[in-house]
Amino acid sequence: MTAFWTEPDYDDHELVQLVRHPESGLTAIIALHSTHLGPGAGGTRFWHYAEPKAAMRDALRLSRGMSYKNAMAGLPMGGGKAVILADDDRQKSPEMLAAFGDAVEALGGRYVTAEDVGISEQDMVAVSKRTAHVSGLPVEGDEAGGDPGPFTAMGIYHGIKSAVRYKLGKDSVKGVHVAVQGTGSVGGGVAKLLAQDGAKLTLSDIHNDRAKALAVELGCETASADAIMSTSCDVFSPNALGAILDDEGIARLDCPIVAGGANNQLARSHHGAQLAERGILYAPDYVINAGGIISVTMEYLSRCLGAAGNINEVRKRLAQIPGRLEEIWEESASSGVPSDTVADRMAQKLIGR
Ligand code: NAD
Repeated sequence: MTAFWTEPDYDDHELVQLVRHPESGLTAIIALHSTHLGPGAGGTRFWHYAEPKAAMRDALRLSRGMSYKNAMAGLPMGGGKAVILADDDRQKSPEMLAAFGDAVEALGGRYVTAEDVGISEQDMVAVSKRTAHVSGLPVEGDEAGGDPGPFTAMGIYHGIKSAVRYKLGKDSVKGVHVAVQGTGSVGGGVAKLLAQDGAKLTLSDIHNDRAKALAVELGCETASADAIMSTSCDVFSPNALGAILDDEGIARLDCPIVAGGANNQLARSHHGAQLAERGILYAPDYVINAGGIISVTMEYLSRCLGAAGNINEVRKRLAQIPGRLEEIWEESASSGVPSDTVADRMAQKLIGR
């Protein structure tokens, strides 16, 4: 068997822990990439993996991604991630979540968890019965936290406006054509915010009814899931799946800007350079989509440390996303290094790598 630390995705992670609890059926991996800036923060994914190796790869890659995302968001947090390996029946149980909570607690605050794919707010409430190192719990009134989707959407909206200013020299998105792929929590939120400013929108979702219903509400067009990437527009905004920017996807683009919230948009590291060669301005995904982690981190810090956790603090930090993107684009323009690589280098410097 190959040792995980010889895997290409192992990047000197500080800790990679296998958690087994046969009584509840829990098998999980907790990966802490870096705690240089603070506790490793990042959600827990509940997923049925075809093979354990794929779960390990996810934990390693996603935890490194969280180190970069948190550092670039200016948060006092490192990067971590957990994956719970679902069985064929994909059933969770209170016992399983409790055992997972015990494993998080045993790390003594080095890892702070939250929701990710397959884990709900209620699941996090169950985990929080065994450990305080949880974020993304239900909140009330003017508090940070809760569902991160709307905050992620708000950050992307700010990022799209700054991309339009930077690349097209326009101070407003009025009349700017944005093609939105995915109209779920994030993409739907982005579309609503852009519509308020008079942007021209084309929406697409594999659940066509979802895109159609939102298009009726906002008075805009839809495109099929196949057609959205080749729609002629000013901004292509991916808010669905990762790895869509591959050789074929990039060749299909007919736009000067790519700016959206999907995680891991570039299929391979050289695809950032391919976008740059085509003259397309790319907003690095983990920089533009940090709104949700900003919100849940403020929630966690306010609960555990008594730091500022109100909504105004979140808004203030969200408004810093454009400045960070512009710094990356300026550096990319002057050095000729693609924007994704510039962002990676900045993040690595911040975490002392
Ligand atoms: P979601 O499940 O609410 O919405 C995703 C939408 O994309 C769904 O409506 C789905 O039908 C649609 N979709 C899937 N494949 C598609 C395709 N090929 N073409 C068009 N539409 C497609 O998820 P979400 O929370 O909105 O997250 C969207 C993306 O943003 C994901 O990549 C996620 O990892 C990333 N992200 C989300 C957050 C957050 O706060 N929710 C934060 C950071 C990053």
